[in-house]
Amino acid sequence: MGEIAESMLNGEMCEGCGQWLGEDVGYPQYCSKTCAKDRGMESDPYEEEREIFEAYGFNVRIVNKRHIQLRLEEYEGIFFDWYATTGTLVKNNNGKFSKGVTVKEAEEVAIYIKNDLSGKSNEKQIKLL
Ligand SMILES: [Zn+2]
Repeated sequence: MGEIAESMLNGEMCEGCGQWLGEDVGYPQYCSKTCAKDRGMESDPYEEEREIFEAYGFNVRIVNKRHIQLRLEEYEGIFFDWYATTGTLVKNNNGKFSKGVTVKEAEEVAIYIKNDLSGKSNEKQIKLL
């Protein structure tokens, strides 16, 4: 991948027009609502969810309008895909996917993942396929 494309994907540059935005945040960002809209994104469709996840220490990547990817720095190789419209949560442990469980609210998702990673049990256990 080119350096510019990479800078756009990690949020250093506006993913629409290439304007410099600042440090690498790990997901695409936009300098303005216009740029976001031009690229098919609403301004920040998951502003509220993002705040909740970040408060729990997650790295948040908005993949698209339905799909949010979450990881915690201390757990290398593990990330979670959350499909916000259906509430389906899937764990990816070093390339191994789990079955999905349904977790509807962002805060529940955050707690669910924290429990899962620290070995505490959840009401509906997530199982690797
Ligand atoms: Zn822009």
